[in-house]
Amino acid sequence: MKPSSILSICGRISFDGYKVYRIDTNNDIASLESALEALPIVQLARDHGRGEHSALDIAVPPEHRAAIESLNLTMTVLSEDLAGDIAAEGLPGDYPVLDGNGIPAISWFDSYHAYEDHVRYWADLQAAFANNSELIQVGFSFEGRPIQGIHLWGKSGKNSKPAIFFNGNVHAREWITSKVVEYLLYQIITGYPTETAVREVLDGYDFYVLPVVNPDGFVYSQTENRLWRKNRQRRQNTTAIGTDINRNWSVGFGGDGSSSNPGSETFRGYQPGDTPECAALMDFAQALSADKGIKLYIDWHSYAQVILLSYGYTCDAFPPNIDRQIGLAAGTAARIAQPYNTTFDYGPGCLVLYQSSGNGRDYMTDAAGTEFAWGVELRSTSYGFVLPADQILPSSIEVWEGMLYLWANL
Ligand SMILES: [Zn+2]
Repeated sequence: MKPSSILSICGRISFDGYKVYRIDTNNDIASLESALEALPIVQLARDHGRGEHSALDIAVPPEHRAAIESLNLTMTVLSEDLAGDIAAEGLPGDYPVLDGNGIPAISWFDSYHAYEDHVRYWADLQAAFANNSELIQVGFSFEGRPIQGIHLWGKSGKNSKPAIFFNGNVHAREWITSKVVEYLLYQIITGYPTETAVREVLDGYDFYVLPVVNPDGFVYSQTENRLWRKNRQRRQNTTAIGTDINRNWSVGFGGDGSSSNPGSETFRGYQPGDTPECAALMDFAQALSADKGIKLYIDWHSYAQVILLSYGYTCDAFPPNIDRQIGLAAGTAARIAQPYNTTFDYGPGCLVLYQSSGNGRDYMTDAAGTEFAWGVELRSTSYGFVLPADQILPSSIEVWEGMLYLWANL
């Protein structure tokens, strides 16, 4: 039984009694996946790019723990109590008070928040920076939610510079990503009047920031299933719900590292761009590309702690500027490590993480003329998707440092 079909039977998922295991794949992920196929486990993430063997992290319900343990796999327990971890993430926080400039207090980053509060946060930030920003909407999700964010610009005015384009929370359960992207917005908006580094980057580029590009999945991860990844699209001839938006882009669509099975966590859809979310993002990228061009794209993920460059869809080809990209990624990773010694790996995604076809950064590289199109996987390799709220701010601070390096060296 696949995770998606459990959902349709059980409704709100409780993770009581679940443990999280990290399994050594013996560098044979296919055999491991087929050994696990019959069990209703939840696949979390795999292959952290470190050590000799790749690893697969899975969440296992109590009644199937014995079955997993009988497979004689090499594995460690990452969490004895997944439900406890989720409880420790904390309830959604209160909406912060606004300061004298109308900016929500920094306590926004002390807890996770409900989706409607995120929408309010973007509106409040934008209103506090009204002369240099506007709210944008690039399309609608499957369930009809607007896919929205903020466009910011510097002294030359709106639409006058090449784009820096950020997407967060394409994968619903990666909650840290929208928080970190919002911290970048917060730092830009509060720093622009006085910080030279912020002024230089915003005077040089138009920022387009979409903190939650999978709003349906994000809401579902908050209300029904904390470990939901995909969008919430229903399709004909299957009871399975959800397509992996980050396997649905047209470049490399259909290759290895994506699935044709609607029940899979990496189900790519039937046609490129047949999720409304990906279609909207491709259209928006084309508009930016045709206007002033895209200098930098980052698609924010968790939790492998790695900077992913193109390509994901092939291990045998590289963008023409790959050496420059690796140099920039190395410098960015070094700067990220400065505040808290958090280690980020970097390199072409297919080599440092795993093959993934139909992903956003490859589309941006090959189809939207983007000079640097990256996927950044945030903390944490030890906590996984369920990152304690007291790590939101440290994760944000280290990434801000990395961005200051990257922007100064573009
Ligand atoms: Zn992801």
